[in-house]
Amino acid sequence: MDEIDLSTLAVHAGEEPDPKTGAMRLPVDMATTFQLPPFGPGLIDALLLESPHPPHAYTRWSNPTLRALEERLVALETVALPARDRKKVDAVVTASGMAAVSALLLTVLSQGDHVVASEVCYAGSVELFGQHLPRFGIQVSLVDTSDLDQVREALRPNTRLLYAETPANPILRIADIQALAGIARSAGIPLAVDSTWASPVFQQPLALGADFVVHSLTKYINGHGDALGGVVIGPQRQIQRIRKEMLVHLGGALSPFNAWLILRGAVTLPLRMRQHAQGALQVAEFLEGHSRVSRVIYPGLPSHPHHDLAGRQMSTGGGMLTFQLKGGLGAAITLSERIRIFHYATSLGHAHSLLFYYPTGMYIDSVDYLTPAQKAGIRVWVGEGIVRASIGLESPADLIADLDQALRGRSFRGAIGPLATRLLKGGG
Ligand SMILES: *Cc1c(COP(=O)(O)O)cnc(C)c1O
Repeated sequence: MDEIDLSTLAVHAGEEPDPKTGAMRLPVDMATTFQLPPFGPGLIDALLLESPHPPHAYTRWSNPTLRALEERLVALETVALPARDRKKVDAVVTASGMAAVSALLLTVLSQGDHVVASEVCYAGSVELFGQHLPRFGIQVSLVDTSDLDQVREALRPNTRLLYAETPANPILRIADIQALAGIARSAGIPLAVDSTWASPVFQQPLALGADFVVHSLTKYINGHGDALGGVVIGPQRQIQRIRKEMLVHLGGALSPFNAWLILRGAVTLPLRMRQHAQGALQVAEFLEGHSRVSRVIYPGLPSHPHHDLAGRQMSTGGGMLTFQLKGGLGAAITLSERIRIFHYATSLGHAHSLLFYYPTGMYIDSVDYLTPAQKAGIRVWVGEGIVRASIGLESPADLIADLDQALRGRSFRGAIGPLATRLLKGGG
C-alpha cells in the first residue's frame, strides 16, 4: 500500500505491537546502553555510523524509542512525495527545536561559507544567525525571504544554504517554498524550511522542492505543552552526517521519555490541527471586526498580504495569529490581566490557548544585525507591538467571549516599572 493518508500514518507509522508482549503501545526504552553483537569488522563499521541504521549502541546516537519517532516523522513529512522518493528521506530527532536548527546549520556550514536566511524567524534562530554564526567565520545575509529578488541578490559564490521559516514566527510572513527551491536549485545549494508553524498537516515543504525540513516538536507535533523536542528531516546521507557529527559530538540528544510522549501526541496531530485552524479563523474574523483592534495578521484572512500564496502552499491559515491594539502597550497589559480562558504565556501549539505581547519596536531598535531599511519593513508588519495568539483546542465561541470581555476592560492604570514606562512613552 503506497498511498496511505496522513491521519492513518499519524496513528501507525513507526509503531507496531510489541512482539514480546503484544503491548499496543511501544514501551519506552530508557536504557542509555545496548548490548552489542560480538566484536568484528561489521560491528566496527556500524559503530562508526557508516550505515544509515546502526545498531542501537548508546542513546545519544540511537535508541528504539527515538527511532520510532523518527520513522513516524518521516512518514508524515513525505506523504505528498512519490513513493520512490520517500525512501531517500530520513530524520534525526534532537533535544529541542533549537538543537535541530543548530545541528543542521553546523553540519551544512563551515568557516568561510555564506548562508542566506529569513530576517524574521523564531528569535532563537535569528539570533543564532545574527550573533553566533559570524563568530565562527560564517557569513550571514538576513533577507525578507518572501521577496524573491532580495534572495537572489543575496546569493554569493560561497553561499552554501538557503534557510527560510514559513509562516514566520511571530509576524506570519509567508515565503514561497516552491520559488525558493527553484532559486536554491539554480545556485546548486540546499533549501531548508522551518515548517513548525504549519506542521506536516498543513504544509509539505519536501513536495514543494525543499531539501531539509526542521520542526520544533515542542509545538504542534507533541501538542500538549509537556515535552521539548526537535527534528531535522532530509536526504538520508545528510541526516546520517548530522547524527554522526552533531549528536555524537555536540550531544543534543532527545530524551526517550520525551520521544515517547511526542509519539503519543503525534497520533492526534491531524485532528488537533483542524481544530486549531478552525478556531484561529473564527477568532481572527472576530478580532478584525473589533473596535479596539487596529490590525489582525492571519494568513487565512483576505487582508493578509500573502493570503493567495498561503492558499496555494498551505491547506489552511494555521492556528497562529497576531494582532495590534489601538491602545498599545497599556491595552496589552489590561488584556493580559483580564483573560480567563487564554493564558498569558510564551510558546505555542498546545491544547491551551496562549497570548503573548511582543514589544517589537523596542526589539527592532535593539538589534544590530538588521539594516535601517529592514527595520522599517518589519515595522510595517508589526508596528511598536503585537499580541501573538496560539489558538488552542477550546471552543472558539468561548475563546471569542473571553477576548471580548478582556478587550472591553478599562485601560491599564496601575504602577509600572521603568522599562514599561519607556515602552508606554514609545507609544506601545
Ligand atoms: C519554538 C520554535 C523553535 C524552537 O524550538 P524549541 O523546541 O523551543 O527549541 C524553532 N522554530 C520555530 C518556528 C519555533 O516556533
